[in-house]
Amino acid sequence: MKTVLVTGGAGFIGSNLCEFLLDKGFKVIAMDNLITGDLKNIDHLRSNDNFSFLTADVSKQIIIDERLDYLMHFASPASPIDYQKNPIQTLKAGSLGTHNTLGLALAKKAKYLLASTSEIYGDPQVNPQPETYWGNVNTIGVRGCYDEAKRFSEALAMAYRRVHNLDIKIVRIFNTYGPRMRKKDGRVVPNFITQALNNEPMTVYGKGEQTRSFCYITDLVDGIYKLMMSDVKGPVNLGNPEEHKIIEFANLIKESAQSKSEIVFKELPADDPHLRCPDISKAKKELKWEPKVKLKDGLAKTIEWFKKN
Ligand code: UDP
Repeated sequence: MKTVLVTGGAGFIGSNLCEFLLDKGFKVIAMDNLITGDLKNIDHLRSNDNFSFLTADVSKQIIIDERLDYLMHFASPASPIDYQKNPIQTLKAGSLGTHNTLGLALAKKAKYLLASTSEIYGDPQVNPQPETYWGNVNTIGVRGCYDEAKRFSEALAMAYRRVHNLDIKIVRIFNTYGPRMRKKDGRVVPNFITQALNNEPMTVYGKGEQTRSFCYITDLVDGIYKLMMSDVKGPVNLGNPEEHKIIEFANLIKESAQSKSEIVFKELPADDPHLRCPDISKAKKELKWEPKVKLKDGLAKTIEWFKKN
């Protein structure tokens, strides 16, 4: 039985990943400092003998006595509101946290997977974004704490590959949604769904002309697993390549939730990328991966979950 450490294991993606890995027969150690993660996300895993949880901060020294075969570093605030509220912790999770986890992986001879992000492309001047695009980031802007932390973490992971020959993988995760997103994390999916279900005004920022694409969580986790098990070199984009304007997306959620909400327009936040869409040619070719869940179906499941929770 292989053992994997998942940092950020009580978060939205982390907890879904832990569940998937347990189903695949791994022994899973989840770690989280619970700044944005939530123990409720892993409650249902606690009775599994192959699962354990550690409350700890990745930016401090990490001590694990057991053997580790894989280390997956997902710990970081990830919604714009969260990382702008905790910019120093976000920078520490990406820098010190990445350094600590890489050091641990090296000591344990574990394979390492880094959760990076489409944010490393900043406000892109190329659309869709292939992995070869270097990005357009405002280093000193309000999103800089997250974007630069992740850019640094990619550079550090590559240095560990070059210097120590550590087996590292980098996944650049585009907007992902599904059950266990925090209702109040400020992102567009929880905001729109909560507003729609309460028949409250749906807050579109700017004119809603900016684009995003939305990948359902099960598709993403499947892609992350395929990457971890592969020999693929260099970063890989994972996301859904179907691009939507935010205003369209608001109407889609309104319709799916059969809501009477009106749509209102609010100020566009600083440095909000005007476009974002993954080029997933590399994942398709090298991992034989592409998203399967249709937006309508994924949204229906997510809306159901939000209704119950
Ligand atoms: N957005 C919006 N209304 C909201 C929340 C977000 O119009 O209530 C927009 C936001 O301006 C951005 C997009 O939706 O253009 C996605 O925002 P999110 O915070 O989910 O993540 P991002 O992709 O910006 O990291």
